[in-house]
Amino acid sequence: MRTMPAVLVVEDEPAIAELIAVNLRHNGFRPTWAMDSASAQREMDAALPDLILLDWMLPGESGLSLAKRWRANERTKGVPLIMLTARGDEADRVAGLDAGADDYISKPFSTKELLARVRAVLRRRAPEQDGEAIVIAGLSLDSATHRVSFVDQPLKLGPTEFKLLHYLMGHAERVHSRGQLLDKVWGDHVYIEERTVDVHVKRLREALGAAGAMVETVRGAGYRLTSKPSVAVPGAAKAQLG
Ligand code: CA
Repeated sequence: MRTMPAVLVVEDEPAIAELIAVNLRHNGFRPTWAMDSASAQREMDAALPDLILLDWMLPGESGLSLAKRWRANERTKGVPLIMLTARGDEADRVAGLDAGADDYISKPFSTKELLARVRAVLRRRAPEQDGEAIVIAGLSLDSATHRVSFVDQPLKLGPTEFKLLHYLMGHAERVHSRGQLLDKVWGDHVYIEERTVDVHVKRLREALGAAGAMVETVRGAGYRLTSKPSVAVPGAAKAQLG
């Protein structure tokens, strides 16, 4: 089963909550709606989401106070959080960020902007979530258990291929030069020819099987891991559908 990121939407205005939820759902997220701080806390107690969209102005306890509480709690402090608010001045923005918000969106906002910020925050947070699985288009890597699977089929990777994939998935859709990959994956104290990167990318693709097409060569620039490979691989298409 592919994991869709769960997003807790804490918003007391039903029309705005609905607009956000519909857009999240259409873009591969699993939204849950809480209309006040008490029900938001219940949702957090039940299961931690992958991200929280938190309205500042809520009846009862404010979003800012909730943000501070969640950030001070060991269990909830790592959950990415974006504050939503009609209050757009700098002092408020600073207060929101000081409370531990990863980002801040002023109302009114476009749904495009909201989705872009949600994705950006999830991308930024992904590499820090040690022990959490990264899932991209059915390809899943769990750094705690060192397991990799594609559409629930376990894959066997060598240690270097694992590190390489971990880095690429933690920084997906971006192009990395061979030199950058050497720095990040092998460490800059190691002297290795850049061609070594090509060898391991080739091994990684082979190990990934149908998902190998997700590791793209960008001519003259380097490599990238993408959820939408430009080269269609029959196996990948079949696996994605299955
Ligand atoms: Ca509100």
